[in-house]
Amino acid sequence: MKRTKILATYGPGIASPSKVSRLVNAGVNAFRVNCSHGRTEDFLAAARIIGEGIAKARYPTGLLFDIAGPKIRLDRFDGKVTVRKGKRLTLTTGRSDPGKGIIGLNHAEVLGSIKKGDRILIDDGSLLFTAIAVDRKGVTLKALNSGTVLPGKGVNLPSTKLDIPTISDKDREDIKTAVRVDADYIALSFVRSPKEIAEVRRQVKKLGGRQKIFAKLEKREAIDSLEAIMQAADGIMIARGDLGVEMPPEEVPKLQKRIISMSTALQKPVIVATQMLESMRFSPRPTRAEVNDVASAVFDQADAVMLSAETATGKYPTETVRTMSDIIVATEKDQPEPAAPKQDKNFKSPIPVAIARSVLHANRTCQSKVIVAFTSSGFTAQLIANLMPTQPIVAVTDDKKVMSSLSLFRAVYPVQADQPQSFNEMIDTVNRICRQHKLARRRDKVLVTGGVPFGSRVQTNLLFIHEVT
Ligand code: PEP
Repeated sequence: MKRTKILATYGPGIASPSKVSRLVNAGVNAFRVNCSHGRTEDFLAAARIIGEGIAKARYPTGLLFDIAGPKIRLDRFDGKVTVRKGKRLTLTTGRSDPGKGIIGLNHAEVLGSIKKGDRILIDDGSLLFTAIAVDRKGVTLKALNSGTVLPGKGVNLPSTKLDIPTISDKDREDIKTAVRVDADYIALSFVRSPKEIAEVRRQVKKLGGRQKIFAKLEKREAIDSLEAIMQAADGIMIARGDLGVEMPPEEVPKLQKRIISMSTALQKPVIVATQMLESMRFSPRPTRAEVNDVASAVFDQADAVMLSAETATGKYPTETVRTMSDIIVATEKDQPEPAAPKQDKNFKSPIPVAIARSVLHANRTCQSKVIVAFTSSGFTAQLIANLMPTQPIVAVTDDKKVMSSLSLFRAVYPVQADQPQSFNEMIDTVNRICRQHKLARRRDKVLVTGGVPFGSRVQTNLLFIHEVT
C-alpha cells in the first residue's frame, strides 16, 4: 500500500463512473472538482459521476471542491489569437473581438488597477506582456514573447495591487454546492489572509457542513502570512502553477520544502500540486525530470500529490495515475525509519500524543505490518501519520464522514467498523480487518491503539502489540 496519496482532477477526460473507477483501481485516493470551469449543474453532475465511480472502492475515496476565488481568466471567446513579440493585444472592459486582438476578462474590474509598465502574464506565465496604455475602455499590452492566446486561460498580474474580494458570489454558490454534495474538502484559491479561511469556515458551518478547509497557496501575499494562514486552515495545497507565476519560479522549490516541513510541524496535511506529470497529457511516458519531481515530494513526506490536466483532459489518465503510483511505491520502499520526535511537552492532547510516539518507539524493536488505530474523530490516526511511520495506518471508525475525510492524509486508510465494547471484540475486529484487507497474516505483529473504557469514546490512551490469529 502506498503511503503518499494521489488527488486527481476530474474533467471531460474521465467523465464516466467506469473511468473514475478505473482511476481508483490505479491508485487515486481523492478527486478534485475544479470550480474554475463550469457552473452548479456541472459540479452536481461531477459529484454524481464520481460518487458512482468510487462506490465500490476498497477504501473510501475523497471529494475535494476547489473554489476558484479571484482567478482572473480571459473570456471564453471563439478561436485563438496568435501574438508576435512586440505586437499589441488589448484587454477590454467590453466584449471580446479576437479577430482584432481584443479580449475580455471574467473580472473586468481589475483593469482599473493596472498601471502603465505593469507585467501581465497569460496561460500560467507562458505569454508575457507589459501594459503600455491604460484608458477607460481597457489596457493595451505589448507582447514580450510570441505565442497563442487561447480562450479561458488564466491571467496573472504579479505587479498589480488588486482590489477584488477573495470570495465572490459564485464562490459562495460553489461552497453551497460542495456542502450539498457532501464533499470532504473545500480548497480556497488565491488565499491572501487567514480571515478568508475563517469566512469560508463560517459559511460552511452555517450551512451545516463538516468540510475540512484547505488553503491554496499561490499568491505572494499568502507567503507573507504563511504561518497564520496555515494555522487557520485544516490543510494546505502548494499550487505551484500560479505560485510560479506570481513569484519567480526559481523560488518555488525551496518554498515547497519549507511549506511541507511547516505543515508537518503544524500537523496539517499538505498537497503538492501542478505539472507533476504534465507531459503525460500527450505522452504515455513521463520525463525523467517529472519522475524526480514526484519522488522529491514523496521524499519530503508530502501527504498527497496532485494531477491536474493530466487526468482532467489528458490522453492517458489511467497510465498517468499508474505511473504516479509506481513512483510513490518505489520511492517509499527504501525510506528510512523516522527519527524520534523532539521531546517537547507543549501539547493540547498529551495522552494521544504519547501513544502515537510510543507506536513509533515500539516499531523500532518489534516491526509491525500495520498500525490499527480505533478512532472516532480520526485524530489519533492523523497524529501517528504525522510521525511518518513506514507502515500503513488503518483508521477504524464508525463514522462514514470521518472515513472519507481521511482520504488525503498520508498513509491513513480508513475502514468502517463499530467501536468495540470489549477487549475481545477489539481483537476480533483487528484479526478480521487484517484478513479481509490482506494487511497481515497469522503471527504477524500489529500495533493497535484505542481508548478505554470501551464504548466511552475517550481519547486514545491504549497501545498494545497483537499477533494476528
Ligand atoms: C495551481 O495554480 O497550481 C493550481 C492548482 O490551481 P488551478 O489548477 O486551479 O489553476
